[in-house]
Amino acid sequence: MAAAESDREVPSALCTEFLNFSAKDTASKWLQVTDLYKEVYQHLARYVPKIYCLGPNLNPQSEDLLAQLLLQAPLEWYLCGEDPSTGLAKLEQNNQPSQLCGHVFRVGEPTYSCRECAADPTCVLCMQCFLGSVHKEHRYRMTTSGGGGFCDCGDTEAWKKGPYCQKHEPNISDSCQEDPLAHLSTDMIARCYNVFAIVLKYAVDMLTWDKEDELPPGLEPPDRGDTYYCMLFNDEVHTYEQVIYTLQKAVNCTQKEAVSFATTVDRDGRKSVRFGDFAFCEQAKSVIVRNTSRQSKPLRVQVMHSSVVAHQCFALKALHWLGHVIGYSDALRRILCQVGLERGPEGENSSLVDTLMLCDSKMWKGARNVYHQLFMSSLLMDLKYKKLFAIQFAKNYRRLQTDFMEDDHERVVSVTSLSVQLFTVPTMNYERLQSDYVKDDHDREFSVTDLSVQMFTVPSLARMLITEENLMTTIIRTFVDHLRHRDLQGRFQFERYTAQQAFKFRRVQSLIGDLKYVLISRPTEWSDQLREKFLEGLDTFLELFKCMQGMDPVVRQVGQHIEMEPEWEAAFTLQMKLTHIISMMQEWCATDERVLIEAYKKCLTALTHCHSGFTDGEQPITLSMCGHSVDTIRYCVSQEKVSIHLPVSRLLAGLHVLLSKMEVAYRFPEQLPLSELSPPMLIEHPLRCLVLCAQVHAGMWRRNGFSLVNQIYYYHNVKCRVEMFDKDLIMLQAGASMMDPNHFLMIVLSRFELYHIFSSADCRKSYNRENTNKDVVQQNNTLIEEMLHLIMMVVGERFEAGVGQVEGCDEIKREIIHQLCIRPMAHSELVKALPENENKETGMERVIDSVASFKKPGVTGRGLYELRPECAKQFNLYFHHYSRADQSKAEEAQRKLKRQNGEDMALPPPMLPPFSPLFASLVNILQCDVLLGMLGAVLQWAVEPSGGHWSESMLQRVLHLIGMGLLEEQQQLKNSSEDHDVSFNFTLKISRPGEAPSNTASVLALLENLQNAPHLEVHKDMIRWILKMVASIKTMRELTASTYTVTASGSHGQEEMVCDKDKAERKRKAEMARLRREKIMAQMSEMQRHFINENKELFQQSLEELYASASTSTSLEHSPTSSDAALVCVGPRRSRPREKRQVVTCILCQEEQEIRADSKAMVLAAFVQRSTVMSKNRKRPPHDPEHYDPLFMHPDLSFGTHTGSCGHIMHSHCWQRYFEAVQAKEQRRQQRLRVHTSYDVGNGEFLCPLCECLSNTVIPLLPGAKGSNSCEQPGLGQWLKISGQQIKAMHSAHRKLQPVGVDAVEETVEEQCPAPESFRIDYTPMSPYSSTIKEMLTTFGTATYKVGLKVHPNEQDPRVPIMCWGSCAYTIQSIERLLVDEEKPLFGSLPCRQDDCLSSLARFGSACWTAASQPSVQGHYIRLVAALIPDPQVETSPCILDIDMLHLLVSVVLSYGSVHSQDSSGLSVDAVQLHFFHIITVAHMVQMLLTSGPEEVTMEQESGGAEREEEEDICALYNTLRTHLGSSLPEVASGWHLWRCVKTGILPYLRGAALFFHHLNGVPTPPELHALCPGQWEVLCGYLSLPSNLLQLYHSQKELLEPLLYGWCSHPGVRQTLQGGGVLVSFPRESNSLIDLPDDYSALINQASSFTCPKSGGDKSRAPTLCLVCGSMLCSQSYCCQTELDGEDVGACTAHTFACGAGVGIFLRVRESQVLFLSGKTKGCFYAPPYLDDYGETDQGLRRGNPLHLCRQRYRKIQKLWRQHSVTEEIGHAQEANQTLVGIDWQHL
Ligand SMILES: [Zn+2]
Ligand SMILES: [Zn+2]
Ligand SMILES: [Zn+2]
Ligand SMILES: [Zn+2]
Ligand SMILES: [Zn+2]
Ligand SMILES: [Zn+2]
Ligand SMILES: [Zn+2]
Repeated sequence: MAAAESDREVPSALCTEFLNFSAKDTASKWLQVTDLYKEVYQHLARYVPKIYCLGPNLNPQSEDLLAQLLLQAPLEWYLCGEDPSTGLAKLEQNNQPSQLCGHVFRVGEPTYSCRECAADPTCVLCMQCFLGSVHKEHRYRMTTSGGGGFCDCGDTEAWKKGPYCQKHEPNISDSCQEDPLAHLSTDMIARCYNVFAIVLKYAVDMLTWDKEDELPPGLEPPDRGDTYYCMLFNDEVHTYEQVIYTLQKAVNCTQKEAVSFATTVDRDGRKSVRFGDFAFCEQAKSVIVRNTSRQSKPLRVQVMHSSVVAHQCFALKALHWLGHVIGYSDALRRILCQVGLERGPEGENSSLVDTLMLCDSKMWKGARNVYHQLFMSSLLMDLKYKKLFAIQFAKNYRRLQTDFMEDDHERVVSVTSLSVQLFTVPTMNYERLQSDYVKDDHDREFSVTDLSVQMFTVPSLARMLITEENLMTTIIRTFVDHLRHRDLQGRFQFERYTAQQAFKFRRVQSLIGDLKYVLISRPTEWSDQLREKFLEGLDTFLELFKCMQGMDPVVRQVGQHIEMEPEWEAAFTLQMKLTHIISMMQEWCATDERVLIEAYKKCLTALTHCHSGFTDGEQPITLSMCGHSVDTIRYCVSQEKVSIHLPVSRLLAGLHVLLSKMEVAYRFPEQLPLSELSPPMLIEHPLRCLVLCAQVHAGMWRRNGFSLVNQIYYYHNVKCRVEMFDKDLIMLQAGASMMDPNHFLMIVLSRFELYHIFSSADCRKSYNRENTNKDVVQQNNTLIEEMLHLIMMVVGERFEAGVGQVEGCDEIKREIIHQLCIRPMAHSELVKALPENENKETGMERVIDSVASFKKPGVTGRGLYELRPECAKQFNLYFHHYSRADQSKAEEAQRKLKRQNGEDMALPPPMLPPFSPLFASLVNILQCDVLLGMLGAVLQWAVEPSGGHWSESMLQRVLHLIGMGLLEEQQQLKNSSEDHDVSFNFTLKISRPGEAPSNTASVLALLENLQNAPHLEVHKDMIRWILKMVASIKTMRELTASTYTVTASGSHGQEEMVCDKDKAERKRKAEMARLRREKIMAQMSEMQRHFINENKELFQQSLEELYASASTSTSLEHSPTSSDAALVCVGPRRSRPREKRQVVTCILCQEEQEIRADSKAMVLAAFVQRSTVMSKNRKRPPHDPEHYDPLFMHPDLSFGTHTGSCGHIMHSHCWQRYFEAVQAKEQRRQQRLRVHTSYDVGNGEFLCPLCECLSNTVIPLLPGAKGSNSCEQPGLGQWLKISGQQIKAMHSAHRKLQPVGVDAVEETVEEQCPAPESFRIDYTPMSPYSSTIKEMLTTFGTATYKVGLKVHPNEQDPRVPIMCWGSCAYTIQSIERLLVDEEKPLFGSLPCRQDDCLSSLARFGSACWTAASQPSVQGHYIRLVAALIPDPQVETSPCILDIDMLHLLVSVVLSYGSVHSQDSSGLSVDAVQLHFFHIITVAHMVQMLLTSGPEEVTMEQESGGAEREEEEDICALYNTLRTHLGSSLPEVASGWHLWRCVKTGILPYLRGAALFFHHLNGVPTPPELHALCPGQWEVLCGYLSLPSNLLQLYHSQKELLEPLLYGWCSHPGVRQTLQGGGVLVSFPRESNSLIDLPDDYSALINQASSFTCPKSGGDKSRAPTLCLVCGSMLCSQSYCCQTELDGEDVGACTAHTFACGAGVGIFLRVRESQVLFLSGKTKGCFYAPPYLDDYGETDQGLRRGNPLHLCRQRYRKIQKLWRQHSVTEEIGHAQEANQTLVGIDWQHL
C-alpha cells in the first residue's frame, strides 16, 4: 500500500522543486562556499532519494533524466565554470588524444591478434584497428572476446611491428610526452579536482557501504519513510530453478516475473524482489531464507532502506558520469587518476582506488562491472598512472587473491546452470562448455584480479613489478599458500578431486595465469636487480617443485585389485598448468649466462636435497657383466614406491641442455658444479619412471586400475611430455654421457629387472630353458623390447637443440614428418599432435611446406597435408613420440609405400645429426660390450624358431640398433676424411666372436646365419640391408686413403629384389585374401540382420527394370507412335501413352504386382511437409488452420505443402504390417528405456524400410488415364455453354441436398434452366478402385491434409482433396524451380524417384475425388471455375491478382473428374483440360500485364517480323485492359517490353503445366526438352498444344473471352491491389536464395556482437543465431527469449522456425560457427558451416581462431538441401547416425 501512495505523491512534489531548480545557480553557490564537500553531500542527500527508488518498479528513463538535470548538471556547471555544453566542447577541442585505441570489448566481439607481431597472445586489436593495420596481411588469429579487456592498438610495447593502425598513427608533430594538464587553467584544474574528489569519494562510500538501514554521515535523508527493498543477491550455489521456485513462493509472483528476477540477479548480481514497509520485506526475506537453507547455505537477501538503494543507484550513475566526462579530455582523465590514487587519511593503501579494489569481493557484480570499466578508461589508459596503479595492484595482490579464493559468489551462475539445463548432451557444446570452464581467467571475469592481464603483460611494467615489488615471488608464494595439503615428507597430497575442489583449484590456477603474464616476454637486457629477483623467484619456484617431486607415489598392487582408484587428477592438473611456466623459466635462463649458471646450481642443490631423502634404506649391490662391474643400489620398481612427478629432475635436465646449447659448459666449466654431479643419482628417478611405463606396458601393473593408466597416458601426452617424458629421456642422456656406457646399461638392466637374464655367462642358452611360466616369459619379452627401445632413444634422440647439433626447426620438422608418415593429416590434426608453446604456437607454419604438400578439400571433407616423398627416408620406426598404435600404423603405411615404389621392405634407421660435444660420448653405448652381449643373446635366441622365448619385435629392435651402429660408423667415416682415426668401430666389434669361455659366434656371424632362416622371412630385407652396410663400410675403411666412398643404400641386385618382391607379394596377397574373406563374412552377417537388405542388389535391379519398362519418363522413351507427329501432352490431339503393363516389385515381400485399378494397392513411401521455400512474402501471418480456405493459392506462395518420396514401392498391406511393427517396437522401447528415435511414430512417421529415408505417409500408385477416343469435340463457345449448364445443374442439385430452410425462392429460377440431358446429375458413379486402393487414397489424402494445415486428421473434411491438389501443384512448382536453378533441362534430368513421385501425385489428384463426397468436390470445382468465368451464384471469388494460376490449373483439371463422371455426352476430358488450360493461360497473361512494371525506356529495340505480330497483339490486349481499368494502368508505347515481360513471366507456368500434363496423361516427352538448347519455347508450346504466339489464344476467341476479361478487370480487388492495397507479385518469381553471407567470418561475429536480446532491454545475447533464410538475428538458447508455441515454451530459433520456415529452419550459430538445422520441435542437427580456414577446415566452436572465409560451394550445397526440401531428411540421417543428437532438447534453442 505504501508503495502505491508514494507513487502518486512524489512526482508532483518533485515537479515544483524541479521547476524552481537551476543548475547554474546551484553551481555558482557552490563556487562561493568553503566546504564544498559538505554542500554537495547535502545536495545529494536531499535529491537522490527523491529521484531514485520510489517504487517497486524502477523507471530508468525518467530517473536518469532527473538525475541529469538535478544532480549532474550542477556538477558540470561547476566543473566548467560556464554552460557545460560549450565548456565541454572546448575541452574536447583542445584535447590531444592519446594514441591508444583503448576500445573496450563487448561480449562476443571479434578480437584479432597477429601471430607474427604480437608481443604475446593477450595483445589484441579491435576489428576497426585490425582492418587498418599491417597485420591484416600477416598470419593472424581471430577470437571472440569474453567481454572486458581493450584494444592494444597504439601500445608500442604490445607489438613487435606495426603498433599503430592508420587511425591511431601519431602525427610526427605531436610530442607524446607533453603533460596533458598544460592546456588547462589552474582554476579549472582546482575545480575539476574538487568535483572528482567528492564524486569519487561519494561513489566509493556508497558502493562499499554495507549497512542496510543507515547512510554515511552527511547523506541522511531529510525525511525518511518506511520504505524498504528486499534485495536478492546471486550466488553460485543455487540453480536457476531453485531461485525461480523460491521467488514464486516468497513474493507471490508469476513464473514469468520470477524468471525475470532470476535473470537480473544473475546478470547484475542483485535485484530487489519486493518493495514496501519493513515488515513486508522482512517477511519475504524470511520465506526465501527458509526455503533455500535446507540443502545448502541460504540465498543472500537483505532488507535495505530505499534511500540506501537510491544512493547506490546514483553512485553507479556517478561512476558512469565520471567515465563520460573524462572522455572529453586527457587532462581530466589525468586529474581523475590523481584523485583516485591519492593516499587517503589511513596512510598506505588507503587511496580511493585501493579501497575499491580491496572491497571488490564484497561488491555485487553490477557494481564491479561499472568500476572496472572506469578503471579501464582512466587508470589503464594513462601511461603514467598505469604504472602507479600497477604498483598498487601488485601491493594488494596477495590480499586480493586471497579474497578472491574465499569469495565463492562470482562463478557465472548462468553459464553453468542454464546451459546445463538447456543442453543436456551434445558433445560438441559440452566440450566447449568444459573448455570455457577450465579457461584460466573465466571465473575472474568479474573480479578485479582480472585486470592483471592489462598490467602484467606490459614488458616494462612486468619487469618493474618483478624488480621493485618482487612480483614473481609474491605470486608463487600466494600460490603455494593455497595448496595446503602435504604428506609427511612435505609433498603435496591432494584430496579426491571433486567438483568443489576443481572449482577452488581453478581459482588457484588463475595465479599461474598471472605468473604466465609476468613471464610472457623475455628480457633482452638483465640488470643485477632483475637477476637477483628472478633467482629469488626461482628459489620459491623450486620450493614449490620440491613439494611436487615424488608426489602421488604408486606401489605395484599384487594379488588383488586396488579397492579405490587413487587420486591423480589434481597433481596432473597442476603439472599441466605449470608446464608452460617451467618452459618459460628455462627460456628466461637461456637469455643470460650468469642466471643460467646460478639457476643450475640452485636446481642441483634442490635435487640433491630431494634425493637424499629417497635413498634411505636402499642397499648397495654390485653388478658385473662382460668383464665390467658397477655399484648401484638395490631397488625394484615393481616392489617399491615410484612417482611420475619429478619436476626438479626435469628442470635440471632442461637447464643441462641449455648449458650445452649456450656453450656455457665449454666456456665457463670452472663455474659449474660439475664435480658435484653424480650421474647415477641424476638418472635414478627418471629411469624408474621410464621403467614404470615399460612395466605397465608389460601388464605388470594391471591391478593398479585406471588411475595409473591415465597417468602414464598423460606422461606421454603432447600436453605434458615436453616437461615430463622428454626431459626424463634427456636426463638419461645427460647421465649416460657422463658414465661408462657399460655401467649405464647394467644399471638400466637392473632397473628393468632383466639383469639376471643377460648377466649369466651362458645367457644365450639358459634363458630358453629357465623360464617356463608363460606369463613371465611374455612379460620379460615386453620388458626387453621396451628396454631396447629406450636404448635406441638414448642414443638416437638428438633433435633437441643442445643435445644434438640441430637447428631450432629441425625438431618440429621431424615431428611433422613422423606424423605424416602415419597418414596424411589436416592442419588441425597436426596442430593437436604438436606441443604448443605459451603463445599457442607450434612453429609448424615455418616448416610445413618444406616437408609436406597441401591437398585442397572438395565440397566435403577437409584439406590434407601429404608427406613429400623425399622426406620418407627420414622415417624412424622407433620415433620416441609414437604410441604403439602410431608405430604400427606408420610401419604399415611405410611398408605399403615401399611396395608401391617397388623397393625392398627394410625400414632401416634414418641418418642422424651428430651429438653436441657434451653428449658426444653417448654413441659409445652402441659399441659397448654389454650392449653387444645383449644383441648377441637375442640373435642367438632367434636362431631357434621354437616359439615364445623371444619375439619378432625384439629381434626387429636389435636389428634396428645394429643399423644405428652401422650408420653411425658410416657417418663418422665420411666426416673424417682427413683424420683416419675413427675410434668408433662398430663393424670390428660385431665381427669379433664372443668372450671365453663359451666362444660364442660373433654378431655378424649370427646375422649371416639368420639371413637364410625360413622363420625370419619378414626380417630378411633388413638383415640383407645390414650385411650390405657392413660390406660397404669395410670397403670404406679399406679405401679411406683414397677419396672414393661408397654409398651404402639402394644397391641391391635387380634379381634379388625381384625375388624378394615376389615373396613379399605372395604374403601380401594371402593377407589380402584373408582380409577380403573377413570382410565378406562381416557383410553377410550384417545382411542377415536386415532381412530387407538381404537381396538389396536384386531389388535395385528389379527397380531399374521397372523404370526401364514402366516409367514413361526415361529418355529413351520419347518415340511417339508415329514418328513424324509432334508430341502433344494435353487436349484432344494428345499423343497416346505407350500401352504397357506396369509391373512393380514390393520391396518388402519381393512379389511382383501389376498396377491396375482393381488390383492390390501399391504405395510409395512419401514425406509430406509444409514449406515456405518459395515464399515471396514471409511477412504473411500463418493461417488459422481451422478456418483457412486453401482453395486458391495466392501468387506469393507463402505457405505450401511439399511431397517428396524416396521412390521405394511396397504393397499397401506389407507397408501396413511394417508400420504396425514399428509402432509396437516403439511402444516396447519407450517402456523399457527412454531412448528417443529420430522419427515420431505417433505422428505417423517411419523410416523407409529400404533406404531409411524419413517418411510420414504413402502415395498409392495408380494407372494412367486412358486415352479417350472421341471424335468431334465442342469448340470453346459451345463448351462454355455446356459447362455453364452443368454448373447450374450442380448448383440446384446441391441445394436440394442441403437441409430445408435455405431460401427456396431461387429454386424456382433454377427449374427454368434444365440440365443437358446427357448430364446425369443424380448418377452416383462407382469408384473404379479396389478396396485397398480406396483405403490408400484416404490415407494419403488425410496425411496431406493433416500436415499441410497442421490440424488433426479428419478424412471427412472437404478440404482434403484441395490440399492434395495444392500439394501436387506446389511440388511441381518447386521441382520446376529446382531445375532452373540447377540449369537442368525440363525432362530427363530428374531422378526416377521424383518422376515417380510426380506421376503418383498427379494421378492421385485426379482420383482423390472418388474418396471424398462428390458434391463437395463439385462445389470446389464450381468455385474454381467461378474465378475464371463469372458465376452469379458464387459470391466471393478472389480477384485475378490473388490467384496462382498453376495451382488453379491443377485444381480445376483434377477436380473436373467429379463432374465428368456424370457426363455421358461423349465430351472428352482432354477437350475440357485444353479449354481450361487456354483460359487460364490467357488469365495468367492478363495477370502479368497488370503487374508488369513500368517500361524501361532505354531498352528500345528493333524486333524481327515474327515478333512484331506478337507485339501488336499484346498492345491490343493491353489497351483493352486499359479501357477496363483506365488510369490504374500506365500507358505503354511499344509492345516489345510487354511481350518480353509476358514471355519470361509465363515460362515457369508453361513448364509447370508441361510437367503436370506429362505426368497426368503419361505422354512421352519431346527430345528437344531433354537438353538445354535454343528453340525451347516453340517446342514447349507445341507440346502443350499452344500457338507459339500466345496472344492468338485471345485474339482468335476475342468475342468469347472479352466478357471474361471484363469480369476479371472489374473485380474490385484488382483496382485496389494495383493502387497498393495488397501484395503485388510480379512475374517471373525469382527463386529464393539463402541470405548473402560475408566473405570474412569476423564480419558476422562483429554483427552478432552488437546484437542485443530484443526482450531483455539491451542485454547481450549469449547465443546470437542467424536465420539463413530471412537474415533475422535471434537470441537463441536462452530463457529471455523463450516464447510459447502450442502451449509449450520454446527457444527463439524454434519459434522463428514456425513463422519463417513453416517448421523447418536453417540457422548459423555465430559464436559456434555452426549451422543448425531444425525441424518441428523435436528434430535438429548440426551441420558443417560453409566457412573454411586456409587449411580447408571448418572451426566448429571457434576454437582454433584461424581466419575463416566463405566457401561458396559449400554454401550452395546447403542452399540446395533447402530448395530440395531435404533438410528434414538430412536431420533424420544425422540423427540415425548419431544417437546423442536425438536426446537434445532442440526446442530450447
Ligand atoms: Zn582499436
Ligand atoms: Zn587503432
Ligand atoms: Zn603482424
Ligand atoms: Zn509386399
Ligand atoms: Zn526408400
Ligand atoms: Zn533474449
Ligand atoms: Zn527466418
